Amino acid sequence: MKIIVTGGAGFIGSHTVVELIARGHEAIIVDNFSNSQPFIIDRIKEITGVSPKLYQVDCTDKKALKQVFENEKPEGVIHFAASKAVGESVLKPLLYYRNNLTSLINVLEIMKEEKVNNIVFSSSCTVYGSPDVIPVTEKTPIKKAESPYGNTKQIDEQILTDFQKANPLFNVSILRYFNPIGAHPTGKIGELPIGTPNNLIPFITQTAAGIRKQLTIFGDTYDTKDGSCIRDYIHVIDLAITHIKAIEKLKKENGIVDVYNVGTGVGSSVIEVIESFEEATKQKLNFRIGNPREGDISAIYADNTKIVSELEWKPKYNLKDALVHAWEWQKKLQK
Ligand code: UDP
Repeated sequence: MKIIVTGGAGFIGSHTVVELIARGHEAIIVDNFSNSQPFIIDRIKEITGVSPKLYQVDCTDKKALKQVFENEKPEGVIHFAASKAVGESVLKPLLYYRNNLTSLINVLEIMKEEKVNNIVFSSSCTVYGSPDVIPVTEKTPIKKAESPYGNTKQIDEQILTDFQKANPLFNVSILRYFNPIGAHPTGKIGELPIGTPNNLIPFITQTAAGIRKQLTIFGDTYDTKDGSCIRDYIHVIDLAITHIKAIEKLKKENGIVDVYNVGTGVGSSVIEVIESFEEATKQKLNFRIGNPREGDISAIYADNTKIVSELEWKPKYNLKDALVHAWEWQKKLQK
């Protein structure tokens, strides 16, 4: 299939482009490089031998985006392009609403105009808020969003569902990601946080690399096995592959909305992640216990039964693999 990948130079987008090419699809990248870098495109070529076509376009610019669709005539869209930092969204809510809602509306309007019927959308397990029961299934109730970012994901899911209802030939796949981590095993592409990382794994690798003095564990008195928070960490390549399986399924369907949790089904605590990192990489981490971070929930992990059975997918990497790959990427970045 020829597929437009918005945000295709980003962390998850770039790994998805690599896996699309590996499976014989044609990926057309649309990216404004607001949170990614052009050298990633060269790295995709180094890994795959194929240089994906790139349009430096902001998805909030409907005219420019429409031109891409007119030129390329794709069969489907994987829509990653969005702002994604929870903390920033609290400080700059309008930026988040503008980017995340306008981009999706533009994409859908153009898809309708150009008769493109298949879209895979990046959503997040943040839609479940602090769940009453874990693991969460796709039927777990959606909780009121705790940040503008989380709210944009909920509204985007609603927009997609309403749009599909009004356009019966249209197919939607909503993927609710748990915590994507790791990097390509070649060490050529990975996460590129701007400034001080918010996320645990880049903070760990930067601390091990000496860029940060000390890692803080945000709380050790939660009601969990060791008191630190529990999350479901999924290797970015395993996550990338779900997008391809999802869009290949859509191509065979008529008028559906698929919703999948994309996680490993394994919950790991912050302390377990630190121990696994130290063990797998033989690096000693300087860390301390700090206060809980505002807005953090104590524990969430996925029930992934639905995606495992319907998309015949299963994660191939474990936590240690992902941590080793993230560390290899960190070391190469500094060279
Ligand atoms: N965390 C931490 N120290 C850090 C960054 C994160 O202890 O410097 C914890 C955080 O409290 C959460 C887990 O690591 O329990 C994952 O956080 P991250 O920001 O990576 O993802 P989130 O689940 O919040 O989206």
